[in-house]
Amino acid sequence: TSVSTYDYIVVGGGTSGLVVANRLSELENINVLVIEAGGSAYDNVNVTDTGGYGNAFGTEIDWAYKTKDQEYGGGAPQTVRAGKALGGTSLINGMVYTRAQKSQIDAWETVGNKGWNWETLFPYYKKGEGFQVPDDYSWLEGSGVAYDPADHGYKGPLKVGWSSNQLNDGLAQKLNTTYQNMDVPIPYNKDANGGQMVGYTLYPKTVDSKLNIREDAARAYYYPYQSRSNLHVWLNTNVNKLTWKSGDDAIADGVEVTLANGTTSIVKASREIILAAGSLKSPLLLELSGVGNPDVLSKYGIKTKVNLPTVGENLQDQMNNGLAFDSKTKYSKVPDYVAYPSVGQMFSNATAVGKQLLANLPKYAAQVASANGNVTKSKDIERFFKIQWDLIFKSHIPVAEILLEPSGYTYDTEYWATVPFARGNVHISSADPTAAASIDPKYFMLDFDLQAQAQAARFIRQIFQTEPFASMAGSETSPGLSSVAAGADDQGWSSFIKNNYRSNFHPISTAAMMPKEVGGVVDTSLKVYGVSNVRVVDASVMPFQVCGHLQSTVYAVAERAADIIKNEN
Ligand code: FAD
Repeated sequence: TSVSTYDYIVVGGGTSGLVVANRLSELENINVLVIEAGGSAYDNVNVTDTGGYGNAFGTEIDWAYKTKDQEYGGGAPQTVRAGKALGGTSLINGMVYTRAQKSQIDAWETVGNKGWNWETLFPYYKKGEGFQVPDDYSWLEGSGVAYDPADHGYKGPLKVGWSSNQLNDGLAQKLNTTYQNMDVPIPYNKDANGGQMVGYTLYPKTVDSKLNIREDAARAYYYPYQSRSNLHVWLNTNVNKLTWKSGDDAIADGVEVTLANGTTSIVKASREIILAAGSLKSPLLLELSGVGNPDVLSKYGIKTKVNLPTVGENLQDQMNNGLAFDSKTKYSKVPDYVAYPSVGQMFSNATAVGKQLLANLPKYAAQVASANGNVTKSKDIERFFKIQWDLIFKSHIPVAEILLEPSGYTYDTEYWATVPFARGNVHISSADPTAAASIDPKYFMLDFDLQAQAQAARFIRQIFQTEPFASMAGSETSPGLSSVAAGADDQGWSSFIKNNYRSNFHPISTAAMMPKEVGGVVDTSLKVYGVSNVRVVDASVMPFQVCGHLQSTVYAVAERAADIIKNEN
């Protein structure tokens, strides 16, 4: 069908965008258009194969964004992956479904977002979720799979559960025993999705358990609803920028797009434009439309429509490293075993670490502010850092995610400190919407981020020195004791970590939901400050990093965004 004006245009048919489009199109009198830069990946085996993580990297459905050279993080640029097709990054992610520690979402309210806390978000996590109760426990035996029924939603579109790839006979129990035998035991956590994440657990994934294929945003929120006559999707169409009603007020009336055939045209929206292009794209679309820091915009000849200097700031990601050990047994399946230690479980000297970090916060805040030309203010950053400090040292959120991934005769591990303090940014580097952006996460800018990353590595070494794992594993193959000596200090770990890390692919906060005066870009109804009818609903709006992987929180925020929009109409 061809309609010339839509009520809502959703920019980006990804994880968050398809949720909002689906929910808005439940209203029959509302026309919704989703504009997606990529195509369909419905039959793409690199997407559907539940054991195929990584196969889509570098293909046409991966944006593969490049960062600037990482001054503090090894010097080289990093690749930050993101999905480019209907379904967005949910098509290429690791399918892990974990949420956040309750206190982390409560911190969204502490920072000034009234009404955004765990209690109000928890129902939205559940609303989206279609938890698949494992109906045949025989295949679960020895896998360690467990869950708390109260923590899940059963009627939502997004299938969450386990696939047979996640099984492995008895290893889960041996790892649990190992964690219980550690100097500071890591408690077993039956279900990390109820707001308490600390401990050792086996999480569910976004899989269709019956078909044993990936569940993604398009499969959950679009394909079963594609016959709705008021839900429209344009594929292979790039949104270049917003268009404005004439006059001084910032009222968007549509978007400029480049169609698959290369021609440029304008599509009109009578109500709102909803940005869901991802945290490394949505802020750029604002800048290309004249919403942002005048110093950035004027460099590329873009006239400032709304002076909002923090667009693209506050970028937070995590850094991913891994250690590897020989295994005496051969493994063929792909299980996922995760531990989320708190600071007291990971650092034997947590009190001293906390004291030192607290003393460093003013210096760190000043460093962040000066690195971005004081666009975000040192005193505000310091306050956020104190909130983050409280989360680590008072609420005892997990400080690292430790993943064990056996394959063949190897125990691979992956890990990341969950809440780095570094704040970077993403900005346009040209007025050309197809030009690569300037992406600078400033990995390892602050010492604590290396300290936590190094301690997580020591923690992993400790796992492999604890029975029964100590006897099940052979020697450490990466980095190996000849490369990083036993007992190495942070400096001793530094070059291995900085030369071998990658982005953890969890960039957030580039259009943060916060009060405007402390650097926010959207208000609590996710509307861009100074603009009457443009919202951001993707990972850009999360003010703080969460300890779970991002997608569950992205889905939940988008579910809530849809309700906010509906309630205003
Ligand atoms: P996206 O889902 O990326 O959606 C943005 C959409 O906008 C895309 O479809 C894109 O093509 C489109 N778009 C962009 N620019 C334009 C434009 N100009 N015009 C039109 N369309 C445009 N999270 C987990 O919870 N568990 C995991 O296991 C996990 N693993 C991950 C592994 C990888 C490799 C990556 C990259 C991420 C992973 N994540 C994981 C993170 C999680 O998947 C993302 O945070 C989340 O999907 C982001 O959703 P979004 O809506 O913000 O953006």
